[in-house]
Amino acid sequence: MNQLNLNEQILAQISSAAKVIRSGGIVAFPTETVYGLGANAFDAIAVAKIFELKGRPKFDPLIVHIADLSDIKLLSFSDDSRIYQLAEIFWPGPLTIVVPKSTVVPDIVTSGLQTVGIRIPKNEIALELIKKSGCPIAAPSANKFGKISPTTAQHVKKYFPKIDFILDGGKTEVGIESTIIKLNTKGFEILRHGVITKEEIESIIPYYSEGKNDVISAPGMIKSHYSPNKPFYILNEELKNKIDRSKAGLISFSGTDTEGFQKVIYLSPKSERSLGQDLSEAAANLFGAMHQLEESDVEIIVAEPVPEKGIGIAIMDRLKKAAYQSQSAIHKNKFLE
Ligand code: AMP
Ligand code: MG
Repeated sequence: MNQLNLNEQILAQISSAAKVIRSGGIVAFPTETVYGLGANAFDAIAVAKIFELKGRPKFDPLIVHIADLSDIKLLSFSDDSRIYQLAEIFWPGPLTIVVPKSTVVPDIVTSGLQTVGIRIPKNEIALELIKKSGCPIAAPSANKFGKISPTTAQHVKKYFPKIDFILDGGKTEVGIESTIIKLNTKGFEILRHGVITKEEIESIIPYYSEGKNDVISAPGMIKSHYSPNKPFYILNEELKNKIDRSKAGLISFSGTDTEGFQKVIYLSPKSERSLGQDLSEAAANLFGAMHQLEESDVEIIVAEPVPEKGIGIAIMDRLKKAAYQSQSAIHKNKFLE
């Protein structure tokens, strides 16, 4: 559990934020993954405001955050024991489980799907907010649609300077969004990769892909996402030689071949010193590094790929989506020749 000591000041802020939620407003709050933009999950009008604020397409459903396992009964009529098996191991934590929804969950929350994604976040501020609000909180990440996810309250302010309420819980610990799984008759399939890996989940229930998810039930399939407002590429051998390093910011994992870049940000500085490579640390620093280079004076951002195994799969998923638009128009960049 997040060992934040909730002092009186933050508790008072959470009480005020809970009032905002209860009266149909929007609150940005920290979770262990990224900051969320939350509303009462049972209030369709409040939830609609989230879509409007974010510029989020209505086909992209929200995750519903609860503080207590028993709240599942409000959101789903399913008595699938696997939900509880998974919850026992992974909740509170960065795993979202998609289950059949109950009738009280408004359609706008699930984009009209008959399923709802649920999780208990592992962050004391988030949990206290949900408890004090007295309702589940529907929340996507607190960024404009398609842009870099927020891992600090400052990132949230950048996107939403006028929002009703931002609870500041410092930098988020995990740093990338939750793993999302959907249960089917034979096992689970992955809709979005996160720091909880397929292998970890497979130790509880079998992996089984029905392979028939439509685009709506797997919005993780949107190819472009998490994009900085600057050209962004994943570094490969060809790019290494072409790029004008004096105009480029590098997001480095290995710490090698960093010479000549205008700016370098190390994703895993702790492990760099000990020559290990820590993918959890890299995930925690990933979006922060992207924000920092977006805000800096570099003209172009490149990221070194990380090994595509374990948590590296989730990191590469974010990098590929962030690079998608730039990579498709790579011939147009004047800093590459
Ligand atoms: P965000 O928190 O901004 O990453 O957005 C939440 C993500 O949760 C969406 O992009 C969807 O991929 C996923 N999600 C939420 N509910 C469902 C659902 N019922 N079925 C499939 N995916 C879901
Ligand atoms: Mg998001």
